Amino acid sequence: MPMDPRHAVLFEPVKIGPHLAPNRFYQTPHATGFGWQRPQSGAALRGTKAEGGWGVVCTEYCSIHPSSDDSPYAFLTLWGDEDIAPLALTAEAIHAHGALAGIELWHGGAHAANRLTRVPSLAPSAQQALYHLPTTARMMDKSDIAAFRGWQRAAALRAKRAGFDIVYVYAGHDYLPFQFLSPLTNRRDDAYGGSLENRVRLLREMIEDTKDAVGDTCAVAVRLAVDELHGPRGITSTGEGREIIEMLAELPDLWDVNVAGALGNDSKSARFSAEGFQEEQVGFVKSLTTKPVVSVGRFTSPETMVDQIKRGVQDFIGAARPSIADPFLPEKIRQGRSDEIRECIGCNICRAANNEGVPLRCTQNPTMGEEWRRGWHPERIAPYPRRETALVVGAGPAGLEAALSLARRGLQVSLVEKSRHLGGRIVNEMRLPGLSTWGRVRDWRATMLAKEPQAQIFLQSEMSADDICDFGADHVVIATGSRWRRDAIGLGNLTPRDLPGALTPDDLFAAALVSGPVVIFDDEQYFMAGAWAEKLAAEGHDVTLVTPWATPSTFTIYTNEQDFVLERLLRLGVKLLPFTLLTGQAGGAAQLECAYTGKASEVPCASLILCSGRIAEDGLFQALSGRVKNLDRIGDCLQPSSIADAVYSAHRYARLLGQDDLPPAREFPPLR
Ligand code: ADP
Ligand code: SF4
Repeated sequence: MPMDPRHAVLFEPVKIGPHLAPNRFYQTPHATGFGWQRPQSGAALRGTKAEGGWGVVCTEYCSIHPSSDDSPYAFLTLWGDEDIAPLALTAEAIHAHGALAGIELWHGGAHAANRLTRVPSLAPSAQQALYHLPTTARMMDKSDIAAFRGWQRAAALRAKRAGFDIVYVYAGHDYLPFQFLSPLTNRRDDAYGGSLENRVRLLREMIEDTKDAVGDTCAVAVRLAVDELHGPRGITSTGEGREIIEMLAELPDLWDVNVAGALGNDSKSARFSAEGFQEEQVGFVKSLTTKPVVSVGRFTSPETMVDQIKRGVQDFIGAARPSIADPFLPEKIRQGRSDEIRECIGCNICRAANNEGVPLRCTQNPTMGEEWRRGWHPERIAPYPRRETALVVGAGPAGLEAALSLARRGLQVSLVEKSRHLGGRIVNEMRLPGLSTWGRVRDWRATMLAKEPQAQIFLQSEMSADDICDFGADHVVIATGSRWRRDAIGLGNLTPRDLPGALTPDDLFAAALVSGPVVIFDDEQYFMAGAWAEKLAAEGHDVTLVTPWATPSTFTIYTNEQDFVLERLLRLGVKLLPFTLLTGQAGGAAQLECAYTGKASEVPCASLILCSGRIAEDGLFQALSGRVKNLDRIGDCLQPSSIADAVYSAHRYARLLGQDDLPPAREFPPLR
């Protein structure tokens, strides 16, 4: 298909310092969980992005010195010459597809706890080192600042030798150069503190040093948080953020601008932000500089991208998550296949992987992070060697993914679903506040399945074990999902409770009536209890959220959502009861118990809602065991978990069908 001519502007080359980016698609730096320990995995991931058409592909944060060590999280290093060869793999993988390679040089300052290196943390002013034991980062003196400038220069020279085209000066996300900029963290009274000009001094010197070191062949990009979202006490886009851009406007070769404070502000989930959500803060930058500007905002729609360029908001379309969900997004637009873009749903499971210290994963893209370890490609899958048939039972995320991947391998696939809809749990969950984008998991797979002639879909077709035996498929895969527990067993409560009148999310989705004071018991700890509390409170119910833990929705710490969840619940007047177990329901009250002291209490309760966990809907699988050949189960039916895990489980099943499931390749890091 020819490209839609309206999208042509996205494929214009753009000059960045001494280089020409082949188009406007710019993969901004993002973590992968691979870091210096797994250079081949990192290189394969970035190479896939370049192959998919991203004109600029950047690495994740790359430490310039052992005083900036983010262990146990995975980060790159350019501490010595031995770091050059492993990083050159990434630059080569990016160049192999004609893209420019960028590297994000990083010093965390008080943000680097240096757990591995045990080097004392540094900061502009003495301050508590974040994410660590109570440790105070040491105030940098003049010689520390001189040394620091030398580390940036040396790392830039090594980056150049490794083959990178764009070298970053990183003053975003609360890291060291930003700590110097912000009046909240810089309380110095020397030439590097006080007035804005003084606080900008180090950033200016870093740009000049980096240009001096590598500017002959490398572009120097500045990543700057123009608003730290702490109001007028800090850097704001209408105050000092704007003044910084004015002061340094023409100094770097490219501005990569965003909002900061915590990383969660920059990579807000779809539950709390819409596509293009940073424009309000970053939109002014282009009016103050002739240098190219890039920013992010979960851009997945080509129309929005064109609009960004045409309105002069930015010169590139910056993307981290959209490039994770679909590394081939630019190619699909170029080839006139925009309908095939696998759009990021904004769930932040990718952020959770990083925050848990494991390699990157993605709800929409099960091949993400598996490019080297398993040799999986997001757009290619090996043909199945024989003409065989497969029956997939259940059309939730797992069933849809399995059916699609099996069909792409050339099997004759029948996907059967008992309800009237494709999507399984998604049909319900996308109705919760802020989760409508989750429907993209279903929509993309439904769109792609419709293009596979060897796939057939049968709705309103509940299958019994006998039906499946009679069907006679060569392969049967059960994807019948899960149901919410009624016994209140969860993470904290291990005692089954007899609660005949209680409702579960399944009942609520099936339109069960909710009345009177509502008590929600959250012992599952992901989004479900919090999302229902939000929905019911917004509808005017009196809602109490009970949890054995310190806060509800604890897992949302990992998805960088918890602050926003709590803020929203508290604003809506939801009452939170932490450290509390549910023991029963009687006489219009929920009976409770303190998780620590065992002290009993009650709260008024007309509707009790249990969000304590799910159990597999695997009866069909059990009934078929031994009756059909080649029987498997996938997704929540195998292990109730995230949608990401369900999709991955299905993809893995389809990839490995007909092969031995060998352990994935492991990288052994170089000796240090
Ligand atoms: P997963 O996340 O693993 O895909 P879901 O719960 O989202 O699981 O989806 C399971 C799907 O399986 C639901 O759409 C459900 O209607 C369907 N299903 C369950 N039992 C049967 C059955 N016996 N025959 C056909 N479809 C079924
Ligand atoms: Fe987007 Fe979710 Fe994938 Fe992250 S995990 S890239 S937020 S779909």
